[in-house]
Amino acid sequence: MDKAINKKNISYCLAEKILGNCNICNNVKSHTLAKGNVLSNLSENDNVVGSFNDHLMIDIDMISNCIESYYTEVKLEDASLTVSFCKDHDRELFLEIETDGKCNYSNTGIENLEYALKAISFQIYYYIENVRYLSELIKTSKNVLSSCDGCKSDLLKQYSICVDELFRLYPLSQRIIEEIKNFKQGKKDIKLKTVYIKIPCKKINISCLEVIEEQGIYYFINVVNAPEAYMIFSYYEGENKKVWINEIKNKFENRICKQDDIYNFMLSFVITNAQNIYMNRRKFKQLSDEEKRYLYVVHREGTANIPENVHRKYSKGLYSFFFEG
Ligand SMILES: [Zn+2]
Ligand SMILES: [Zn+2]
Repeated sequence: MDKAINKKNISYCLAEKILGNCNICNNVKSHTLAKGNVLSNLSENDNVVGSFNDHLMIDIDMISNCIESYYTEVKLEDASLTVSFCKDHDRELFLEIETDGKCNYSNTGIENLEYALKAISFQIYYYIENVRYLSELIKTSKNVLSSCDGCKSDLLKQYSICVDELFRLYPLSQRIIEEIKNFKQGKKDIKLKTVYIKIPCKKINISCLEVIEEQGIYYFINVVNAPEAYMIFSYYEGENKKVWINEIKNKFENRICKQDDIYNFMLSFVITNAQNIYMNRRKFKQLSDEEKRYLYVVHREGTANIPENVHRKYSKGLYSFFFEG
């Protein structure tokens, strides 16, 4: 699926229904990752970050000979730019996590709501952008009812998945905005639950924001330096009280080799499931070609089919790429 975002084409304010009074002439490049400290911390002030190039088909020769083409560099101003809020609501809704001097993550209800909104507003934009992209393909494809250009994916099925996801995510986004509104009017009873994992290192060299469904619950995920390294998972409780992320966190806390478990989780869950990942370019350049190949294959295909000895071979290098100090 195309992950390229053409920021000029789609514009709306996600808060219109709940907050109203939009500054309609002025929908802005949203705060979703692009502003604030997360990406500038990651880029070490040279204003460029690395990311996966997901647009290429996996080709054995190309992977072997030209792994660089499976990665790309992104200027901060282009990274994750979405137009999801009008100017006024953009400022209002991210006040707590974007305001200078308030960048220390301290797990307050309002911070968690804002981080969750960041993740979901990106994800909604991503699906809308994909709907647009797929509709272009549908328009030009000679064979809409079977497949597109020899790739296996069925265009209409992908289109339908994107639309279904939008119908699921939109109400959740409204619920988050409603809670932020209520909070500011003095109702401090926040229903959004959050589990955060402090990553035991000075700095994490990748960042990510994403919404991922796991066992029937949508998790709003942020991996950030804020300024210490955290994985933040927020969600609304469903009927099933057995919450997957609590089990993950408990598992980490009961183990002796916490770092190794967190590394494995980063690799097998975050790198595999997330689309919106950015990397510290300086550290990325220090990876060997083999390590870059391994990381890319994990991102695209997951960890399950890779033999244990291969994982072991790369774990040291990748570990020190993810986690610094
Ligand atoms: Zn793509
Ligand atoms: Zn607005």
